[in-house]
Amino acid sequence: MMPRSPRLDHDIERVLVDRAAIEQRVAELGERIASDYAGREGRLLLVPVMTGGLVFAADLMRQLPHRLRLGLVTVSSYPGTSTESRGAAIRGALPAGLEGAHALIIDDILDTGRTLTLLRHEIIAKGAASVATCVLVRKDKPEAMATPCEYSGFDIPDEFVVGYGLDYDDEYRNLPYIGVLRREVIR
Ligand code: 5GP
Ligand code: MG
Repeated sequence: MMPRSPRLDHDIERVLVDRAAIEQRVAELGERIASDYAGREGRLLLVPVMTGGLVFAADLMRQLPHRLRLGLVTVSSYPGTSTESRGAAIRGALPAGLEGAHALIIDDILDTGRTLTLLRHEIIAKGAASVATCVLVRKDKPEAMATPCEYSGFDIPDEFVVGYGLDYDDEYRNLPYIGVLRREVIR
């Protein structure tokens, strides 16, 4: 077997959303969210979905001038080397302070919609004043398009992607763009 290159980008077949496009879109989404949540300052709770939503949430939150809080939630759906969703499950507890909060769930990607649907339901059950969802990319497939999502950055083809938080077997999250893995890399 050939030794693997230490450079992650050698494993990428095609870039779908490049770094500059992400940066511009994150700024636009930030402006929209800032204006939509004006007047709800102090009760905004950002809920990044770990682990993939970490990079997007870190960039997006710095576009928001509001007084806000952060409450992480961990959801697993693509264990290890799997490239197909196995259904969403919350790992551990939901964040504290949801009651009366305006929760904004932030995730990397909207695929089957199971993650956002589950979280929306659970967060409403905790007594949040409002719940909205924000993803950087959404797959162009019926289940994703049918899932309510207030803020979405880009629609992409229904392919397995990595980068900007999205992983394959926990790697590639640090790529600054979103791309499709070379077929040979997928085990
Ligand atoms: P859903 O619950 O909408 O099917 O999937 C959402 C979760 O599945 C995302 O938070 C993400 O972790 C994972 N996921 C969905 N599609 C992809 C993909 O193309 N690549 C990677 N790396 N993860 C994905
Ligand atoms: Mg995820």
